[in-house]
Amino acid sequence: MSDGYTDGNALAGPLAEIFAVDLTTAVGRCVGCGLVGPVAGLRVYDHAPGLVARCPGCDEVILRLVRGPDRAWLDLRGTVSLQIALPTVA
Ligand SMILES: [Zn+2]
Repeated sequence: MSDGYTDGNALAGPLAEIFAVDLTTAVGRCVGCGLVGPVAGLRVYDHAPGLVARCPGCDEVILRLVRGPDRAWLDLRGTVSLQIALPTVA
């Protein structure tokens, strides 16, 4: 914990509830500065309702995740693309 945020590994549990693969190892590109890096490298703030993940390069909001009692809202507008490693298909 430093400066009020943790790293993107804080997203592992909440995202595991939605996605079948571990998204913390997915590689994203920031809309703001073009920085490419793993979700685990984002700065996660959990003071707001839900989780807000910001780019370590330019502080742009990359991802927002709000968990309600029976649904989740996932906002990825700060991400140009997400590269997700999957098992090789024969
Ligand atoms: Zn950025």
